[in-house]
Amino acid sequence: MTAKLEFIDLKTQYAALKERIAARMQAVLDHGQYIMGPEVKELEEKLAAWTGAKHCITVASGTEALLIALMALDLKPGDEVITSPFTFAATAEMIVLLGGRPVFVDIEPDTCNLDAALVEAAITPRTRAIMPVSLYGQTADMDALNAIAAQHGGIPVIEDAAQSFGASYQGRRSGHLSTFGCTSFFPSKPLGCYGDGGAIFTSDDMLAQACREIRVHGQSARYTHTRVGVGGRMDTLQCAVVLAKLERFGWELQRRRDLGARYHRLLGERGVERLAVRPGRECVWGQYTVFVDRRADVQAALQAQGIPTAVHYPKALHHQPAYAGWAPAEACPHSVRAARRVLSLPMSADLSEAQQDRVVEALAACLASA
Ligand SMILES: *Cc1c(COP(=O)(O)O)cnc(C)c1O
Repeated sequence: MTAKLEFIDLKTQYAALKERIAARMQAVLDHGQYIMGPEVKELEEKLAAWTGAKHCITVASGTEALLIALMALDLKPGDEVITSPFTFAATAEMIVLLGGRPVFVDIEPDTCNLDAALVEAAITPRTRAIMPVSLYGQTADMDALNAIAAQHGGIPVIEDAAQSFGASYQGRRSGHLSTFGCTSFFPSKPLGCYGDGGAIFTSDDMLAQACREIRVHGQSARYTHTRVGVGGRMDTLQCAVVLAKLERFGWELQRRRDLGARYHRLLGERGVERLAVRPGRECVWGQYTVFVDRRADVQAALQAQGIPTAVHYPKALHHQPAYAGWAPAEACPHSVRAARRVLSLPMSADLSEAQQDRVVEALAACLASA
């Protein structure tokens, strides 16, 4: 029996960054500006430069980023937002929380991303935004989505980039592909902190200002509440953690790409059904996800060999009790089918090739015996 693998190896990452993280956190403890301290601005400047977006607004989480972006667009009750039902609940949750109507459009079966070819038919006079999700770290067809949005009077496009920080599309970086990009620094995301955190990217000055105000209770100046907002700031300490992690991020990104390409090649040779990666898109492999039948059996067999797996996500949102009212059960069949078949394998920058080989061998053997 070999040692158990980590699904996401954050321990090795921490060991490599321990001193830098400690120094960054100590600096915050020394200056004592726990809320909106200098690390917040420093991180926002670095992340804006990284993506190419004019503005970066750090916020309390990826969920909060989606909420604040929708609030900045002044989403009103009854307004429709086109999105994918094959995503983490937060995507649709923030639409519904504001009284909006999620309009679920199906995914492409091979990339699991919103199918741009189906979006136009879902647009109505009440469409207020289109919200594609860069699932598993690969962006949707953003040029096609932006073009459709532009043809319909400039509908804002919000990229849910929670899983795709570091990915790129036609040479442009995720987060900077549409009106808004919203990312998450949840610990298991490609760029994570040690708690909750997130960021909004935009190059629109007015929308950026709106987000900055909404983040601090709608204040345009201290105790001048010009609009209704939220308490949505990211802690200075969490910004300090991300700043330390950024020093290794270039290396991690290269590792993720190399390991993703290696999984792709090895699993392809074994006949495993893989996610398609479109030309011109660099996937950051927030998850490395494959398609299998009899998934529960495969998971159990791998688990018995010390190989943890995960399912992102086991149900399309319109099959979840809280969102079932927004589409009939038979809608979005590709999303429903994917939810039954997807399986995410261990993936992180610190996965070794030997560990990866173990996963590939175990999965291939399991599928061959089925
Ligand atoms: C993680 C995630 C979110 C939410 O991010 P949090 O930081 O956990 O709030 C939203 N959308 C998608 C697609 C995600 O994967």
